Amino acid sequence: TSAMRNKNSGGKPVVQGIAISHPDRVVYPADGITKLEVAEYYERVGKLMLPFITKRPLALLRAPSGIQGELFFQKSFNTHVPAEVFPARMPDGDEVFSIKTITGLVSLAQFGAIEFHPWGAPLPGGEKPDFLTWDLDPDSKVAWPEVLGAALLLRDYLAEQGLESLVKTSGGKGIHIILPIKRKHGWDLMKPFTKAVAAEVAAFNPKRFIIAASKSKREGRIFIDWLRNGEGATCVAPWCLRARPGAPVSMPLAWEDLATLPPGGGFTIRDEPKLPDQWKKPKFNTIPARFLKNLGII
Ligand code: ATP
Ligand code: MN
Ligand code: MN
Repeated sequence: TSAMRNKNSGGKPVVQGIAISHPDRVVYPADGITKLEVAEYYERVGKLMLPFITKRPLALLRAPSGIQGELFFQKSFNTHVPAEVFPARMPDGDEVFSIKTITGLVSLAQFGAIEFHPWGAPLPGGEKPDFLTWDLDPDSKVAWPEVLGAALLLRDYLAEQGLESLVKTSGGKGIHIILPIKRKHGWDLMKPFTKAVAAEVAAFNPKRFIIAASKSKREGRIFIDWLRNGEGATCVAPWCLRARPGAPVSMPLAWEDLATLPPGGGFTIRDEPKLPDQWKKPKFNTIPARFLKNLGII
């Protein structure tokens, strides 16, 4: 896509109806990627992202002066609200916001957002999740094939219970496993469920895995981070850019893609976005009651 420059926007390029200020500002210095390119990227992948980011609170990672400048996590808007951004208040009084459109996504990119981090549960309430996440965080000493093995182990453990999970790169050094579920239980059950699953998988090889957040015990291990689940917890959205050198992307994959996946995946803003079949129309799973009972959740 090439942005229109018109008089109404004072000569600024317009992306998805949003005038982009400082379009030539370099956001990724080492890669020469500009703010306009970021906005155009989100125009391009917006349609893919929307089912995973709309109607739920979002957190933004903003880089107003590029990724080498200060990075800000932002979870709410009160004064200046960008176009097609909808502030809301949660039952506990917390201010959040959500979007419904690609225009909303681009208007946040115009506002300096690089990363979009949705909650696992939709509005209103944000209490009953439809997406559960296990975030595999390998220590720097862990070899990449071990991370792939861990992802497959978790996939197979869930599959034994009839649960079909999705996989994506984190855009960093890890892998995210996502389980879309029918909205039946609240986080009160689903958070301990994600922990119990992490613990069961970790028990296959305690030398390789850890489920505690403590940094000191992670050396040489893969942290199965289940803390992405819960009210207010987030995970970076599929197809999202990361505010890291190279403009990496959290890329949705087919499980078969793991066989040839290089370390971290290596996907960037320059790559054609992937739309694997499993991600096209995700299956929202029902967690068998027997499984929840066996894990001591109910
Ligand atoms: P990596 O592969 O480098 O681990 P990642 O996105 O998985 O990339 P993590 O640090 O493991 O990064 O965090 C996982 C998710 O937790 C993030 O995608 C983000 O949504 C959320 N998160 C982590 N740290 C914060 C934070 N300080 N504030 C808000 N959300 C955070
Ligand atoms: Mn991670
Ligand atoms: Mn993590």
